[in-house]
Amino acid sequence: MFDALSERLGSIFDGLTGRGALSDKDVSEALREIRVALLEADVALPVVKDFVEKVRERAVGEEVIRSVKPGQQVIKIVYDALVDMLGSDEEENHLRVDTPPAVVMMAGLQGSGKTTTTGKIAKRLADRGKKKVLLASLDVRRPAAMEQLAILAKQAGETVSSLPIIPGQLPADIARRALQAAKIGGYDVLFLDTAGRTSIDEQMMSEAAEIAAIANPSEVLLVADALTGQDAVETARRFHERLPLTGLVLTRMDGDGRGGAALSMRAVTGLPIKFLGVGEKLDGLDAFDAKRVAGRILG
Ligand code: GDP
Repeated sequence: MFDALSERLGSIFDGLTGRGALSDKDVSEALREIRVALLEADVALPVVKDFVEKVRERAVGEEVIRSVKPGQQVIKIVYDALVDMLGSDEEENHLRVDTPPAVVMMAGLQGSGKTTTTGKIAKRLADRGKKKVLLASLDVRRPAAMEQLAILAKQAGETVSSLPIIPGQLPADIARRALQAAKIGGYDVLFLDTAGRTSIDEQMMSEAAEIAAIANPSEVLLVADALTGQDAVETARRFHERLPLTGLVLTRMDGDGRGGAALSMRAVTGLPIKFLGVGEKLDGLDAFDAKRVAGRILG
């Protein structure tokens, strides 16, 4: 693991094995390499700076362990700090859908993978938790998105259904109807797939805020495309200002990116990352694992 960065750090620490403590100078050189590695992984600059300072505090003065090369020792410190920052509390990363009907509201920009992710989480809850799940699309301006959700519900399993579409209803009315249907139908979980736009606008935000007020969701998940890097961070910041977000889902983690957006979004919002999208199919969803993502960011 971490071969590339290990090699770079190895040469900095050559000759240091097994003597004294890590000096300020040794650590500073190592941190320069780590800074480059994080920027290459597409972590936002302010987050990189913050992180590097945290690692400096932990590393300087640390005794060099005789049996471990100092380069490896610093890598371990960096890795542990990354895991901490990404959030390794499994309880926090877990989806809270315990009191039926639990409402999960999905938010995000158009094309982020929001509707697909709704189908994926529904399938997971149906397969693993034997939950009865209702999906409702509130994207009244895009009939195709509503139909897409209905198709996904059929694919997600026998216990997953979609709310029948009634043309002409407003999003708030659909949300109320969905809540009613979930209660009457004995559903465990109701997903509200809110409308996305290609960019953030006031109408989308006030509509989503209204839905959140009506539905009192136990989870409000922001879905963001990991490959959009810095833009994903800005998106998270803007959504977090207006909506009572409870967690993040990063999609397209099956792509080439190193996943630095995960660290940036977590650092900027403080929200737990609940899932990672790893493919187009309905089973392309992983529970978030801070250790795996930390390893990937280090490369
Ligand atoms: P929405 O507009 O946010 O609802 O986005 P969609 O759910 O319609 O997804 C847009 C496209 O991204 C579709 O072609 C999905 O199959 C694809 N997609 C969604 N999540 C992932 C993912 O995790 N990995 C990959 N490779 N593709 C994804």
